[in-house]
Amino acid sequence: MSQTLADIPVSRLKGVGAALSLKLERLGITTLQDLLFHLPLRYQDRSRVVPLGALRPGDECVIEGEIKLCDIQHGRRRSLLCRLQDGTGSVTLRFFHFSAAQKNNLVAGSRLRCFGEVRPGPAGLELVHPEYSRVADDELQAAEEYLTPVYPTTEGLHQARLRSLLQQTIAQLEIGEIIELIPAPLRRNWQFPALRDALLYLHRPPVDADQHLLLEGMHPAQRRLAFEELLAHHLSLMKLRQQTRQIGAPVLPPAQQLVRAYLQQLPFPLTAAQQRVTEEIGRDLAQPSPMLRLVQGDVGSGKTVVAALAALQAVENDYQAAIMAPTEILAEQHFINFRTWLQPLGIEVAWLAGKLKGKARQAQLEAIQSGRAKVVVGTHALFQDDVIFARLGLVVIDEQHRFGVHQRLSLREKGRQQGQVPHQLIMTATPIPRTLTMSAYADLDCSVIDELPPGRTPVNTVVIDDGRRDQVIARVRAACTEQRQVYWVCTLIEESEVLQCQAAEVTSEVLRESLPELRIGLVHGRMKPAEKAAVMQAFKQAELDLLVATTVIEVGVDVPNASVMIIENPERLGLAQLHQLRGRVGRGSVESHCVLMYHAPLSRQGRERLSVMRETSDGFRIAEKDLELRGPGEVLGTRQTGMMQFRMADLQRDADLLTRIRTLADPMQQWPEQVDLLIQRWLGHAEHYGNV
Ligand code: ADP
Ligand code: MG
Repeated sequence: MSQTLADIPVSRLKGVGAALSLKLERLGITTLQDLLFHLPLRYQDRSRVVPLGALRPGDECVIEGEIKLCDIQHGRRRSLLCRLQDGTGSVTLRFFHFSAAQKNNLVAGSRLRCFGEVRPGPAGLELVHPEYSRVADDELQAAEEYLTPVYPTTEGLHQARLRSLLQQTIAQLEIGEIIELIPAPLRRNWQFPALRDALLYLHRPPVDADQHLLLEGMHPAQRRLAFEELLAHHLSLMKLRQQTRQIGAPVLPPAQQLVRAYLQQLPFPLTAAQQRVTEEIGRDLAQPSPMLRLVQGDVGSGKTVVAALAALQAVENDYQAAIMAPTEILAEQHFINFRTWLQPLGIEVAWLAGKLKGKARQAQLEAIQSGRAKVVVGTHALFQDDVIFARLGLVVIDEQHRFGVHQRLSLREKGRQQGQVPHQLIMTATPIPRTLTMSAYADLDCSVIDELPPGRTPVNTVVIDDGRRDQVIARVRAACTEQRQVYWVCTLIEESEVLQCQAAEVTSEVLRESLPELRIGLVHGRMKPAEKAAVMQAFKQAELDLLVATTVIEVGVDVPNASVMIIENPERLGLAQLHQLRGRVGRGSVESHCVLMYHAPLSRQGRERLSVMRETSDGFRIAEKDLELRGPGEVLGTRQTGMMQFRMADLQRDADLLTRIRTLADPMQQWPEQVDLLIQRWLGHAEHYGNV
């Protein structure tokens, strides 16, 4: 059997020793196949010389001309300036770093050919540190035959080096083999170029290639590869899912008594959507393999009740359920809810957060380990080594966005006992656009609570310049006079919690001065949990009129009587976050208001984002828009995208390919060897993520 490029190590290439191998490895390149799939970011046109008179700022091009003058300029920063001229115009080359030899080499009268980016300078156009070489007058122009690729690279590895390695590899491609891994029967009528042609084209496009199309990633050769990459990705998630199915999980048949008792004490009936999703979960829990289900439900759709019902199914089967929330405030609130609901049913609820210390913590640990506490609520403190569950049957993760895939998997491992892992239920209030669910979450089953409890009134959202702060304050006073409660949310651009808390402190002082008749509370992330809980409790019991808060209240906080929210500098937040925040109001039956008080001037994107907020309260539409404006990395959070760094594909641009990929993924299962090779080709070293 002939060797394929996937079997040939890069060290086989000329000039690749240990040091270079290591650098290549940093780029995920160990074989010739890897190298071939290391695709250019963009291209340079070095195929023709641009007359100096035709240069425009921003051009990246080859120029040629005669040196008129070469001199050192002693300005703020010493630099070597070299004036070039051809018949059509002139340009300056500027060097900040240069040697005496270099200067002596650049003598007036000699000709240079340069390549670089054209920029405006103090006296006309310049090329800063261009590549250059001297040319003899009569030398023929040795124009490049192809566009020149620019590859993603790493420290200490030059473009030129990468290019030459690729040239060697392409020569191999002409004689060697690159295996088409998508079986021929599945490639019938699909109108993509062959793999080999696509690769050759992208590494050396003809000079008349449509550069615009290439930059957009819409060239058929790129689409061919994007398709293959998305397919590989999808197949790896399917594999992850198959592997999950082979692990055992406790069989938890639907519960009767506890559920009935719980529903009886709830002051409202379930919505149809809650009922449907509860049934979907109930069926999963009764299976002998672990459930991995994502429940999406807009803010206020009542996910907590659904989580409680799932927990009861575990408890009734004599297993424990763990509920994990991303922030202490949210975890506390869940704890209070669960305790209120479950204690009357005789179920002990334990509580665990990072700040719980000493004896109190010990007592909780003991309740968890002995199995006395049937339900455990907490933050990621639930991960810690000394937390030992007696019989963990179900893990509920609320607001999945804050947790990464790895955390999700490691929590599952934590509950592993005698070859079984607990079921997992993941709840998110930030709807995930369909395109992302299909790719990033293809290892999960999905349920959607697509209905809000009756009696909600939509939030009226207004966008106001913070120059009109006085009017906003007057509005707050008016609202509070009508017995409404108000949130005032402070944001900061930095991730710095300290600064955000300081800003909230200052704001609360200022508001106390302007609104002396109101009872004003303050809550932020740096307060002690007990302090926070006390303030939240006071607000909930209407002992406070106005709550100044940082974005810690973003998720889960539930005070139905609060019907006005002011958000300062909303332009700093993503759409999903704004939607979450706004979801804190509109929970009662009175009309609610949300005031987005921005600081002018707004960027075009900022304006667009705020107008989306004004126009819609549909979480799914907002999520789609968020994806459109910010891209999947931002929407999912970096942790999630760790596994989603595509080389060629772009979930948004290539969304139309996803349906075709799904239809192909199933029949592909008949070629398990190809499936593995395809995953290996595209996900290579990242695939360990799939080994659960
Ligand atoms: P989220 O999905 O945002 O987590 P919650 O579970 O916090 O929503 O529920 C929001 C509010 O709606 C809570 O006050 C809860 O008691 C209430 N709620 C939940 N389900 C229903 C229902 N079926 N009918 C009426 N109110 C409900
Ligand atoms: Mg919630």
